[in-house]
Amino acid sequence: MRGYGQFVADSLQRPLRDLRISVTDRCNLRCTYCMPREAFDEHSFLPRAELLNFEEIERLARSFIQLGVQKIRLTGGEPLLRRGVERLIESLARLHTREGKPVEVALTTNAVLLAKKAQALKDAGLARITASLDGLTDETFRHMSDSDVSVRTVLDGIAAAQRVGLAPVKVNMVVRRGVNDHEIIPMAGHFRNSGVVLRFIEFMDVGCTNGWCMDDVVPAREILEKINSRYPVLQADPNYTGEVAERWRYADGGGEVGVIASVTQAFCHECTRARLSTDGKLYTCLFASNGADLRGPLRTGATDQMLTNLIAGKWEQRFDRYSQLRHAATERPREKIEMSYIGG
Ligand code: SAM
Ligand code: SF4
Ligand code: SF4
Repeated sequence: MRGYGQFVADSLQRPLRDLRISVTDRCNLRCTYCMPREAFDEHSFLPRAELLNFEEIERLARSFIQLGVQKIRLTGGEPLLRRGVERLIESLARLHTREGKPVEVALTTNAVLLAKKAQALKDAGLARITASLDGLTDETFRHMSDSDVSVRTVLDGIAAAQRVGLAPVKVNMVVRRGVNDHEIIPMAGHFRNSGVVLRFIEFMDVGCTNGWCMDDVVPAREILEKINSRYPVLQADPNYTGEVAERWRYADGGGEVGVIASVTQAFCHECTRARLSTDGKLYTCLFASNGADLRGPLRTGATDQMLTNLIAGKWEQRFDRYSQLRHAATERPREKIEMSYIGG
């Protein structure tokens, strides 16, 4: 059998560097662009037995690390709904990369439960946190999240994360034309000088339920022009190769802001991310239709080496570049996996 003693690269020479793990497909919000109520109130979520348990996640994480993964991000669904997620963080944060550095463990959350959990997450070894917030008024937030949660709850969660030292906290705002684009400037104004890095994300055509159309997308260029006309910005260098957010700094020293132009400036050529779904399937693209089952082999006695080989083989076959091809697509729209299941 082939043994992997080296990092893997896919068919477009992209290494495997990042792993996103969806720890639950459930959520306490119903964001219209992600889990629209019409589609998800009747949805059958995964039964408990189908979820990877923490030991299984850790075992797979070790295989991914063996192949080159340096950073792990827990996501979902809403990861803070997974009972005992701190225990999982603790075990993942103890792992080391092939070069002997601690693996960086991060988490993306809607922050509804963050005020209560921030300290425990920090104590467990979480390195970084990204919170999602799509507007500053309860009215806009209600429109985007389709819930009665108040903006104050999310802001309290963000403040708690900063307080316990999960800094710098990043905040993601998905921008949908005509729904929350009027909040771009208020959001920029609110998070300037706060230590929080706000990033604006173009609304994407993930899954098949969010009714995406190009007219709803506010291009990153337009977002930046808006910000620049109110608060002048200067471009900053990327922190590392393959960083998806374009970084900008307020010219007056008010901190950093970013845009993620997944639709209008695709970054597939630098995409080094694998995704592990809640039930243990490996997806090599956010827009994939099919994943490779890892849970089956895991539960029927595969050795660590067999699991590593399986993952490596799938990565080597990878040629995904959905976002680069999006506008050239001539085929019929295909079935795509929902983001809450595959992990955002
Ligand atoms: N529930 C957590 C949260 O909302 O942060 C984690 C999972 S969520 C799927 C991860 C990120 O994906 C969030 O920042 C969310 O705003 C973003 N997202 C979800 N659907 C999206 C879409 N259609 N376009 C762009 N970003 C999206
Ligand atoms: Fe839930 Fe996050 Fe999706 Fe909103 S974006 S529905 S918070 S998983
Ligand atoms: Fe990566 Fe797929 Fe997104 Fe391209 S479309 S950046 S390959 S996840």
